This record gives sequence, C-alpha cells and structure tokens, in this order.
Amino acid sequence: MGGRQVTSWDGMRITVAGLGVSGVSVARALAGLGARVTVVDGGDSEALRERAAALDGITVRLGDADTLPEGTGLVVTSPGWKPTSPLFTAAAEAGVDVVGDVEIAWRLRGPDAAPWLAVTGTNGKTTTTQMLASILRAAGLRTAAVGNIGTPIVDVVLSEEPYDVLAVELSSYQLHWAPSLRAHSAAVLNLAPDHLDWHGSMEAYAADKGRIYEGNQVACVYNAADKATEDLVREADVEEGCRAIGFTLGTPGPSQLGVVDGILVDRAFVENRQKNAQELAEVGDVDPPAPHNIANALAAAALARAFGVPATAVRDGLRAFRPDAHRIAHVADVDGVSYVDDSKATNTHAAQASLAAYEPIVWIAGGLAKGATFDELVAGAAQRLRGVVLIGADRALIRDALARHAPEVPVVDLDRTDTGAMLQAVREARRLARPGDTVLLAPACASMDMFADYNKRGDAFAEAVRELGA
Ligand code: ADP
Repeated sequence: MGGRQVTSWDGMRITVAGLGVSGVSVARALAGLGARVTVVDGGDSEALRERAAALDGITVRLGDADTLPEGTGLVVTSPGWKPTSPLFTAAAEAGVDVVGDVEIAWRLRGPDAAPWLAVTGTNGKTTTTQMLASILRAAGLRTAAVGNIGTPIVDVVLSEEPYDVLAVELSSYQLHWAPSLRAHSAAVLNLAPDHLDWHGSMEAYAADKGRIYEGNQVACVYNAADKATEDLVREADVEEGCRAIGFTLGTPGPSQLGVVDGILVDRAFVENRQKNAQELAEVGDVDPPAPHNIANALAAAALARAFGVPATAVRDGLRAFRPDAHRIAHVADVDGVSYVDDSKATNTHAAQASLAAYEPIVWIAGGLAKGATFDELVAGAAQRLRGVVLIGADRALIRDALARHAPEVPVVDLDRTDTGAMLQAVREARRLARPGDTVLLAPACASMDMFADYNKRGDAFAEAVRELGA
C-alpha cells in the first residue's frame, strides 16, 4: 500500500513526549517491539510518578520536557504539544524526526491490516466517526471508532481483534504529526478558524487538515457548502481513480450525496449517476435532526458507501446511533424554559450551529478563546438572542462583539472564574428567560480556565439546572 513504511524498532532509541494516555500506549507498544523508550514530561506530580512506576522497562524523565535525551533516533509526541516546543527545536537541530501516535499506528500496521476511513473537520468529527462506525457495524463489518476517541489507536492496530475496517477520527494535531498516513477514503467536514494559536495561521491549519486526503484510494469526501474543503481535495495527491465526492443539504448533483424532500440520497455510488439516485435514510432517522447533524450523517454515509456498504445498512446504522453527552443535549424544562447543554461547542463554528437551531435564546458563553474573534458569530445570532450571560477568562472579547453587533441585548458579565460561577450563570439566565425560550450553553470557547474539560463544564451546567428545578 502506498506510503507504508517498514521500521525496525529493535534497539532504536525513542523519546516519547508526554506521559498521557497516548504517550503511555505508544511507549508500551514500542518497548514491546524492542525499542529503548524514554518518556519525558514537564510535570512532576504524584499522579505522574505513579503512572511512571507502572511502566516496566521504560525510562521516564519528569520535570524536564525541553531537552532531547542523548542518542534519540525518533521523537513521538502527544497530539497537543506545540510544534514550537523546545524539545522539537532540539530534535530538528539534531536531525531527528518528530511524529505522533497516529503515524506510529500507521507504521505498525501489518500488510493485511484493516483499511482506514478517516474523518476530520473543525466540528462534527466525533459524531461523524461514531455514525460511520454504527453504519459499518450495521453492514456486519468488524470495526471500531478510534483516533481522537476511544481506545488509543496504537493499541487497536496491535490488538488480536480481526477488524475489517476502522473509522478513524483525526484532529488537526494528529494529522500534522502523521506524514505517511494513507487512508482508503477520507472526509473533511468543514473548515473554520480554530486552534490557530497552535498552528500559527489559518493556512497552516488548513494544510494540516488537508493531509487527510493525501494518497486516498477510493474517495475524498468534501462539504459542498464549504469551498475550503473542496479546495483541499483539489490540492491533494491521490491514488489513480480516487473520486471527489461532495455532500450537501440541498439536492445532490452527480457524485454527491444530499437531501431531497426529507430523504438522504446518494448520487455518487450508484449505476448511471447522471440519472439515478439511491435512497439511504430519512432525515428523521438522524438524532438530533439539526442541519449540521444531517451534514455529519451524509459525510458518514459517503465514507461507508465508498467502502461498499449497502443503502439499508446506512439507514440501520443511523437509526442505531445516539450522540455522546454534551452535544446539544436537552437537560430539562423549568418553568416553561428549555435548558440545552452544548458544552462541546468549544469554538465559534460549533456555537454557530447550535445557536442556529433555537429561538429565542438566552446564551451562556465564554471561556478560553484560543485566538478566535466573535464578531461574525454574534452578528449572525443577534436577532435570536433574548440575553447573554458571560463567563470565563476571555469573556471581554464576546462582550465587545455584543456591544458592536447587538447593543440592545442585555448582557450579564460574571466576573468570577471559580467553578461555582456556573450556578450563578444559570440563575442569571433564568432571570433573563421567558417561557418558550431556550437557555443554551454553547460557550464558543474552551473550558480549561474554569473546568477540567468540556464534560465537567456540561456537568456543572446540568447540576445547576437541576438545582433550579428542585
Ligand atoms: P468534534 O469531534 O469535531 O469536536 P463533535 O461531534 O464532538 O465534533 O461536535 C462538537 C460540537 O460541534 C458539537 O457541540 C456540535 O454542536 C457542533 N457540531 C457538530 N457537527 C457540526 C457540524 N457539522 N458543523 C458545525 N458544528 C457542528
């Protein structure tokens, strides 16, 4: 298969950057293959020491993540580490490659390994990958949803389990560090500014996302409503015969999947696509049937169809799928007001999708902006806002955008970042809301200024809502 590399790991000195879930999995796997592994991590907590103690035959260096251990032949990084980290500068100076866990998984695959159907995008990755796995399962295929989710990908590749195909979610970070990955087929769902502080620029971010199409064999799936994704297909170097397949919420053209009268249809993987279309499922088979989620379903269907899955399995797989927590989850109705947790809306593009799904809205927003601007989001949602409650470190950015584009909308600015702030935020939201309104937690920001992660933020919201109702 194109781009597969054979690496001899025996005796190779490998430095693993980061003692997190993927770092531990990579270190164990490579040590098991005979490599001499050193894990470095800048932290030095009790928890890290315990984790280190459990790693037999692996050297762990805590408290110094900046210097390259003597004799290192390859650095394997955890996804989140910035390309500008001093360790990588040191590696570059020593002429040593830096790759990620996905690259290692790719290199570890055997000759008959299961092909990868890969998914990336600014938003919808997890949902689409899980929908895809559900569809593949409905077709009777042995599969798993992996990559940015579930079991570490290296463990899946090395497991005894005889998979037929893998549904692989890939973040822009993972793609950045996976130069030789070649998927069977891949989808880029959408492309909006996110993680720009990490990638340095929108161009660099797009280029990393676009890597997912390199060397595709059967289909490059793009979003017909998002030209940037189509541009990435055009720029990719793919295998002979690989097709560009679009998905659209409108009527599909030839080589597209789309929607006609509430039916998801395929005009790409059918005989005589100029004339024919194949019915796949109904909009109501998708949970929730919000527009952005129908787009996710179409992308998942396109990848499954590229792999030869029959139309009935697409329908059955979509019907069996249930979204993960904190993704437009209805928490409760209190005094005629609906409370919705979309804590997973950690950037403006995601928040835009959920703000478009309700009206009128009392919006709870704020957190870590990650270099984003909020003018477009706020201007687009202004008409639907009953009020706004702002939380978190970068809330002034949203407050200023509201002042510019929605000066008449009442704003409560909570000047506290302790975890108890969420209870106050929900109380303020209730004060602003009228019966029939939706109080929507769609922060458009990351959560780490106030919470361990978006799960904890969503949990805090749900708990606060329950207290209101009690
Ligand atoms: P990811 O894995 O890319 O973060 P998720 O499936 O977990 O994506 O969804 C993240 C958030 O993005 C959700 O809160 C949801 O509201 C929003 N979202 C999901 N799919 C889309 C889409 N296709 N376009 C825009 N926003 C989306």
